[in-house]
Amino acid sequence: MNEIVRKTSAANCPICSKPTDVAFKPFCSKRCADIDLNRWLSGVYAVPVKEIDDEDGDKLPGSDEGDKS
Ligand SMILES: [Zn+2]
Repeated sequence: MNEIVRKTSAANCPICSKPTDVAFKPFCSKRCADIDLNRWLSGVYAVPVKEIDDEDGDKLPGSDEGDKS
């Protein structure tokens, strides 16, 4: 019998379902971690982000906007 099989109390690698390695938790290897990271990145950053770039590019500071009568 091979008793060396460690019980993974937590979970297996979400990528390939191999036992999780503590060094790459919750993945089994850096490769799987990278794979997941890439998935995550492409999933999140594929969504167009609203750019709030010209927020203060319209009005000049010191304009007479606050001088309403
Ligand atoms: Zn894996």
